[in-house]
Amino acid sequence: MQSRWNDDDARRFAEAAEAEGLPAALGLRVYSSRLIGQDPDLVLHGGGNTSVKITDAPGGAIIHVKGSGWDLGDIEAPGLPAMRLEPLLETLSIPHMSDEDMVAFLRSHLLDPSAPNPSIEALLHAYMPHAFVDHTHATAILALADQDDMQAVVRDLYQGRVGFVPYVMPGYGLSHACNDALARAPQVEGLWLEKHGLFTFAETARDSYELMIEFVTTAEAFLASKGITLEGPQANDAPIPEDLASALTRALAAQGALGAEPVVDFRTTPAIRRYLARENVSELAMRGTATPDHVIRIKPFPLILEAGDDVAAIERKLADYADRYQAYFERNAPHASEPKTMLDPAPRAVLVPEVGLFAVGANEKAARIAGDLLEQTTRIVNAAEAFGSFAPISERELFDMEYWSLEQAKLKN
Ligand SMILES: [Zn+2]
Repeated sequence: MQSRWNDDDARRFAEAAEAEGLPAALGLRVYSSRLIGQDPDLVLHGGGNTSVKITDAPGGAIIHVKGSGWDLGDIEAPGLPAMRLEPLLETLSIPHMSDEDMVAFLRSHLLDPSAPNPSIEALLHAYMPHAFVDHTHATAILALADQDDMQAVVRDLYQGRVGFVPYVMPGYGLSHACNDALARAPQVEGLWLEKHGLFTFAETARDSYELMIEFVTTAEAFLASKGITLEGPQANDAPIPEDLASALTRALAAQGALGAEPVVDFRTTPAIRRYLARENVSELAMRGTATPDHVIRIKPFPLILEAGDDVAAIERKLADYADRYQAYFERNAPHASEPKTMLDPAPRAVLVPEVGLFAVGANEKAARIAGDLLEQTTRIVNAAEAFGSFAPISERELFDMEYWSLEQAKLKN
């Protein structure tokens, strides 16, 4: 992976920020956030987050953190809401805070009360002492992060420059776990979040971004040294199976769980077909999503169809899927800390071995986003299985993420 940093572009972003009376560092933060967000092998669709601390702000240090609802690829300064840094750091001495309390707390420290909610990782960004902090769900990192027992591999691979953080659900607990990891190894330049992704941090926008590129490239090279390639994102190379697409759309509309006009987005590439041709694909597909927040878009497991299925056959399989989804809900809901309401039981991923896959959404945008995540997932899983065994977060952890109150709120927006 190449650095796409360009000094002239960076200067233009810094100058544009200053022309608006904003700090040059915020302009640079916008610039390198876009570099990250525009590379699908770093983050997809609103995934990942970035921040910058302005220590010489009038009235004391502030931190700008990516706001929810913004995409890094086309982020602007208002997409990085500002908070006072000092009160955020005071939470270091509070061992626990609920998701709702954390969101309310962050909102109460926004300089602009009408700004969007700061990322749920805002405290994690605040705790890192560096001016610039970058977080991605890079394809190469996930192929290796979704494996068990990788602590020693990560230590050797990065020669101690990247700290290892065992899986903790995003939010308050993860922020504290990352702070602890940094306290144990203050020299590290990044944190490896097991079954989740990667953080890098530095004093300049360029250094933090280029550390991300370097560490992702190290992971790519490590995979390549074992003969494993990730292939780039690929375009469809075969036509849509029209009959199957219309039968699926009709069956989904009849089910009604996604409204009257569900949309399907067909994908087929060499990587997708290789994934679908895996002997254990039906078991593999049930293991979970490549990074926790994908479960919001693609649900914990897919529906599997056959190429010749007609509307009646698909309706039966959708009913089976709904039963399985309800069983998943009933298995896990009793363990949650608060009562949960079941979400719709319609699949978002439909696998058709030898043919391709359909992403499903209530509208075109949702289907396209799910399709992009699924395309990336097949490349991650192919590489992860070639390396060892694809081992994402557990069913219980997937449930906690899918039914997390803040994530449910995000979907409503
Ligand atoms: Zn993340």
